[in-house]
Amino acid sequence: MIMIFFGPPGAGKGTQAAIISKKLNIPHLSTGIILRNKLEENDSLSKKLKYTMDSGNLVSDDILNTIIKNNLSKQECSKGFVLDGYPRTMNQAVFLNTILTKRKLILSKIIELSLDEKTIIKRIGSRLNIEKRQDDKKEIIKTRFEKYLKETKPLTNYYQKLFPLDYHVFKGNQEIKKIQQDIYKIVQ
Ligand code: AMP
Repeated sequence: MIMIFFGPPGAGKGTQAAIISKKLNIPHLSTGIILRNKLEENDSLSKKLKYTMDSGNLVSDDILNTIIKNNLSKQECSKGFVLDGYPRTMNQAVFLNTILTKRKLILSKIIELSLDEKTIIKRIGSRLNIEKRQDDKKEIIKTRFEKYLKETKPLTNYYQKLFPLDYHVFKGNQEIKKIQQDIYKIVQ
């Protein structure tokens, strides 16, 4: 099972990706979490990463593609994996296709969680108080949402055309449990 989660910031990708990866017993690869862990190293690269991430911009494709390549080559990913936050640009999507094709693998399910801008701002505002992420500040959220619309949203159309039967859209403003059950239904 190879799954991709798409959706704007705050749509619930991380939550749903974590639940389904646990249920299927396959790794949850969140590039946001991997990058935030990298920031702890506090070296010169992590300082650059922090600057980019805190301003709501995207980290370079080269860095992301290397992270994904390294993770996908691990034994624990051999039975499948859940991608959350990757691919985010067309360059990353092409890179992922290349890796999957080389290994004769195909995407099983692509899930898009949709959410409107007003709800995104409200939701992330509450998350800011709990997780204290710099990039959850209101002015940064706007940049992140714009990046999503410009760079990532076009990928949803690309995947929808490539995998019409395995592409599913769920409304991200529903109860976590309801979305979770709807996802279970399509992976069974
Ligand atoms: P997330 O936790 O998925 O919202 O990601 C947090 C931040 O990490 C993003 O705003 C980007 O700065 C960076 N990031 C995560 N995944 C990617 C990616 N696939 N491409 C570029 N930047 C990324």
